[in-house]
Amino acid sequence: MKRRTLIKTVGAAALGSSLGACSPAWRRLPAGPAAWSLPLLRVAPDRVIRTTVGLRPFRPAGFRVAAERLDEKTVIHNYGHGGAGISLSWGTGRLVSELAEPHPSRQAAVIGAGAVGLATARQLQRRGFDATIYARALPPDTTSNMAYAGFSPLSNLVSAPERTPAFDAQFDRAVRTSYEQMQRLAGAGRGVSWVTTYTWTNRLSGRRVEDPGLDETESGLDPGLDVGPTVLQPGEHPFPGTYALCRPTLRIEPSIFLGRLMEEFLLFGGRVRIRDFATPRDLMSLDEPLIANCTGLGSRALFGDETMTPIKGQLTFLAPQSGIDYSLEGSAPGGGRLGILPRSDGIALGHVMERGDWSLEPIEEAIATRLDRAGRLMAAMADHPSGLGRVAAAPQSPAMRAALERDPVPATPPPVESFFDIQS
Ligand SMILES: Cc1cc2nc3c(=O)[nH]c(=O)nc-3n(C[C@H](O)[C@H](O)[C@H](O)COP(=O)(O)OP(=O)(O)OC[C@H]3O[C@@H](n4cnc5c(N)ncnc54)[C@H](O)[C@@H]3O)c2cc1C
Repeated sequence: MKRRTLIKTVGAAALGSSLGACSPAWRRLPAGPAAWSLPLLRVAPDRVIRTTVGLRPFRPAGFRVAAERLDEKTVIHNYGHGGAGISLSWGTGRLVSELAEPHPSRQAAVIGAGAVGLATARQLQRRGFDATIYARALPPDTTSNMAYAGFSPLSNLVSAPERTPAFDAQFDRAVRTSYEQMQRLAGAGRGVSWVTTYTWTNRLSGRRVEDPGLDETESGLDPGLDVGPTVLQPGEHPFPGTYALCRPTLRIEPSIFLGRLMEEFLLFGGRVRIRDFATPRDLMSLDEPLIANCTGLGSRALFGDETMTPIKGQLTFLAPQSGIDYSLEGSAPGGGRLGILPRSDGIALGHVMERGDWSLEPIEEAIATRLDRAGRLMAAMADHPSGLGRVAAAPQSPAMRAALERDPVPATPPPVESFFDIQS
C-alpha cells in the first residue's frame, strides 16, 4: 500500500506560549497534599489482577453508517469503529437516529448490545422510537467491555487512503456529538471522567515535523498536537524525555458506562432479547420494520463485509493503587510504547495491537512486555537525574507542582482535535 506522509504540526509558538504554565482555560483549585507528588506505580507480576482480550472491529474505510433496503425492512448499518467505538458511540448513534427519523414506523430493532448498539438504542429512544435490542452477547461479555477506554476518536478507525469526503463529514458530526455528550456525562456517576495524561518527547519543533509515514490503520487527520498541552521543561518533570506534556483527557470506564446505558435503555421502556442471527434472512423474522445493525466485527459474517478485520487488543490490569490517578502515554526507556490508565476496576496497561489475529487467548509475551515497559518507566522516573521522582512524596518542580495542582476537569474543554492522536 502506498504510504502517505503525515505532516504533524507541533507549533513552537503555541507550545512556547504555554511554557511552565497550564492552559489558562484550566480551572485553578487550591493545592491539596496530593498535588505535591506524583506517586510511582508499583509494578510486579503479583500486582496483576487480570488480563482481558478483545478484537477491535477495524474497517479500513472507517465506520459504516448507511441505510439499505432488505425486502420489507430498512436496515441502518452502524459498525466498524476500530479502536474508537466507545468514543464515537453517541455520535454514530445519533447519525442512525437521523436516518431513521423519516421512517413511518416508530418500532426499531437494534442488533448488538455493545457501546454502539446501546448508544444507538438510546438515541433512537430520544427521538421517540420504541426500541428492542437483540444480541448474541450482552455486557459484560462484549468487545466494548474489553476497551481501554479513553476518548480516542481516531484510534485504528480509518486508513488514510480509504477516507472519503463523505466519511470525513460523517466523522466530523459524530465526533463532535460524542465529545459533547461525553463531557455532559463526565462526573455524573456514568463512568466518564477527566484524567490528566502525561507524555514525553525529546523535541519540540517550530517547524512542521515530517512523520516517516502512515501505517494502514492511521487516518492522516491532523492530530492537532499543538492544542492544549502544558509543556514541562527539562528539570521540571521526572519523565524519560527532554520535555513532558500534560493535558486533560477523557476516560470512559466500560463496565460503568455500559451498565448505565443499559439501565437507562430499560428505564425508557426498552426491551432486550438474546438472539443470534446467522444471515440477513434471519432478520426478516423480526417484527420491527426498522433495524439498526450494530454488530461490530459480527458484520463480517452477518452481512458479508469482508473488509472487516480484527485488531486484537489486550489489557493487563494491576491492582488499584492509592494516589495513582494520572495517565501516562509514551515510549518506555529502551523502547516500546505503553499506555497506563487508572480505572476503578484496576490500572490498565495497554496498547497491544495485533492485526488479523482472531484469537481471544491472552498473549503471554505481551503481558510480560507490558510489565517490563511499565517497570522500566517507573525505574527511570525514580532514578531521574532531576531527582523529582526519587521519593514519591517529595515536592515536584514548581512547574510540575503547578500542573498537578490543577483539577483534571478543564473549565473550558480543549478542542476535540486535541484527542486525535490518542491511542487505545
Ligand atoms: C484492548 C482494546 C482497547 C480499546 N480501547 C478503546 C478506547 O480506548 N477507546 C475507544 O473508543 N475504543 C476502544 N476500543 C474499541 C472498542 O472496544 C470498539 O470499537 C467497540 O467495542 C465496538 O463496539 P460495538 O458495539 O460496535 O461492538 P461490540 O462491543 O463487539 O458489540 C457487538 C454486539 O453485537 C452482537 N452481535 C454480533 N454479531 C451478532 C449476530 N450475528 N447476532 C446477534 N448479535 C450479534 C454482539 O453479541 C454484541 O452484543 C478498544 C478495544 C480493545 C479490544
